[in-house]
Amino acid sequence: MNVERTLIIFKPDTLQRQLVGRILARFEDKGLRLVGLKLQQSARSQVERHYEVHKGKPFYDALVGFMTSGPVIVAVLEGPQAIDVVRNLLGPTNGRKAPPGTIRGDFGLDVQYNLVHASDGPDTAEKEIALFFRLDELVSYQRVTDRWIVSE
Ligand code: UDP
Ligand code: MG
Repeated sequence: MNVERTLIIFKPDTLQRQLVGRILARFEDKGLRLVGLKLQQSARSQVERHYEVHKGKPFYDALVGFMTSGPVIVAVLEGPQAIDVVRNLLGPTNGRKAPPGTIRGDFGLDVQYNLVHASDGPDTAEKEIALFFRLDELVSYQRVTDRWIVSE
């Protein structure tokens, strides 16, 4: 099984709205394994690097302002095809268009305030994890439940 790691960020709206526990539970419920987790106030330079593909777009300046407007929680999740699995749990970018059952569909009504970021591919996942975590902040381990979560 193709075990992957993906970076997620609980954006400032998730913390301000006190939804961290409920949204983190969705990832735990799915069976994904937490391998990194921390609360931080992001530096502007780090957010600018993280979103550099969007530089020049009309929403870029507001996005950087939003992502530095308060604390965030960054996390690394691990599991089979975790990158796609997590993107599918989030749903489309716009909370108004995201279907019920997805995190953005269930909790959001906005395009910018869409609660959680997740890496969109293997290359971005690797880059984003390295941008937010040192190697010694990531923990590899097995859970006793793992053999009941993944059969292969
Ligand atoms: N965003 C925005 N307006 C837009 C598109 C995106 O404010 O028209 C914000 C939104 O917070 C989104 C982030 O910019 O999550 C990055 O955009 P992207 O298209 O990469 O969406 P994602 O990959 O997060 O679904
Ligand atoms: Mg994106």
